[in-house]
Amino acid sequence: MKDLQYLYPSDDGNPLQREELLDHFNTILTQLDERKDPSSLTLGNNSQHQDDYYNQLIQQADIPYQAQSIKETIHDLVKLAEGHRYINSSYVANAAPLPNIPSILGNLVMVLLNGNNLWDVEGSGAATAEVKITSMLSKLVGYDPNQSAGYTTWGGQGAVFNSLRLAIARRFPETNQTGIPGNLYCFCSELSHYSLYKSVEATGIGVANLIRVKVNDDHSMNIEDLKKKMNEVIQNGGIPTYVLATMGTTDTFGIDDLEGIKKITEEIESKHRLEPIYVHADSAMGGMYTFFNHYEFDKNPLGLGGNVLHTLKGYQTKLKAIRQADSMVFDFHKLGQTPYSSSLFLIKDKASLQYVDLDHEETPYVGNRSYGSYHTSYTLECSRMGSSISIYASLLGMGIEGYQKILAHYLELNLAFRNKMLKQFSNVAITNDVSPITTFRFYPENVLWDEEKQGERSLEEIEHNNQFNDEFAELIGEERDRVYFGNTRKQRLVPSKNSSRRIPVFAHKFFPVSPYSTLEDVDRYVDFLEEHMNIYRKTPLLV
Ligand SMILES: *Cc1c(COP(=O)(O)O)cnc(C)c1O
Repeated sequence: MKDLQYLYPSDDGNPLQREELLDHFNTILTQLDERKDPSSLTLGNNSQHQDDYYNQLIQQADIPYQAQSIKETIHDLVKLAEGHRYINSSYVANAAPLPNIPSILGNLVMVLLNGNNLWDVEGSGAATAEVKITSMLSKLVGYDPNQSAGYTTWGGQGAVFNSLRLAIARRFPETNQTGIPGNLYCFCSELSHYSLYKSVEATGIGVANLIRVKVNDDHSMNIEDLKKKMNEVIQNGGIPTYVLATMGTTDTFGIDDLEGIKKITEEIESKHRLEPIYVHADSAMGGMYTFFNHYEFDKNPLGLGGNVLHTLKGYQTKLKAIRQADSMVFDFHKLGQTPYSSSLFLIKDKASLQYVDLDHEETPYVGNRSYGSYHTSYTLECSRMGSSISIYASLLGMGIEGYQKILAHYLELNLAFRNKMLKQFSNVAITNDVSPITTFRFYPENVLWDEEKQGERSLEEIEHNNQFNDEFAELIGEERDRVYFGNTRKQRLVPSKNSSRRIPVFAHKFFPVSPYSTLEDVDRYVDFLEEHMNIYRKTPLLV
């Protein structure tokens, strides 16, 4: 066995093996650094894949019979970085994280300890970090840290699935034995993430029992429509079981009125003598802005500008309502800038875990062994990574203030981008409210956004404008190595004057997520678009 030990970290802490490991880290970091270029989206060369790229990989892939050297392995690993997108100032597409250094170190500690977050006997570090971040973040959002519970899971989507499982088991405890009845209904806004769609499929509720609620002009759920649709479900013998309140839609950052939603669900519960309807706050996108929940706007300690303050004040009011939700999520690997996957599912009342737990103990997270006192037998996973350690590190290393600064910076960038877009283009509409994301839509001639929203344009015209944007997205996508903008084919639905069906609109997305994106870069972003619009107008595609 001795000849294999060089493949492992030491068991006695000797400096020689440590130096070797550090040397490997150094090689990797150096080779990645050599490939960085802030004016390019990709590391190293932007190698275009051949059409049959993955097929070729399938043919070539074989496990080496004899171990290759670590040097060779590093060489093969660094090849994976070649042409990889890197989150620098050229990336303005999506909520993708550039993990901050504290979180990278946290991740390293997680891997080196490699504890199993299932049980504190096997993963004491992860258990400690998980309990700590659950308490820290509970205090931030206004959950009672003595009543709340939390565990890391597979993304914002995992949080939605976990919350739905909890909702079903809490409302119908017998269904763990018997399977679910056919008359359970879930509600979400028509702009919510597809997480709930997948979850109603997987839980057996069925997509037919997922009711989509209309949205307001600010992309938040229309409460009157929710009420109407819940009443319809009840009249037809259905049981409203679960409402997903989106706190920041993925494309437009619309924030649902959670307080209003709670009012409606409570009203309906008492009117129809129903058990409580579960409300999950899907805060995968907006959750990080709860870091302003305790910001003193009158004192403004960070000296934030008036427009930024105005937006943040609005968020504070809306996000403080999360405390009324049964559960929520902190999707750190989005705006929290930690490595994938690091998402904390946070539950207001830990007692509800008894309905999904393996053993029915009074305190759900106490294992029934004579040793160890933290056993997460209520999660869907068995073995779990200790990603709470990365989150913990990030919280310590950024602090509330660090997060506030970067989150406010995103707003500042977006405000500058909006202003400049409107100055530089006569054919662009900004199609969402001020937020960390700006959606915008170009027109062949005049801006028709208001008419499109009012249903004053025909189906054909709206689709023509969609195509105009879709093809422009193709054009700028070809050069995404310079600036990478996001886009969406369904920013929202609009009525048309000649069709009963509402039509999804295409929009481009500006979503800066790098601390290296500065106000100076905004000129570069807008000039890039202008340059391409000039090219686009000269190509006889559509115009
Ligand atoms: C991104 C997102 C999700 C899914 O989160 P993952 O971490 O990718 O699983 C769910 N809901 C909303 C609103 C999102 O923006």
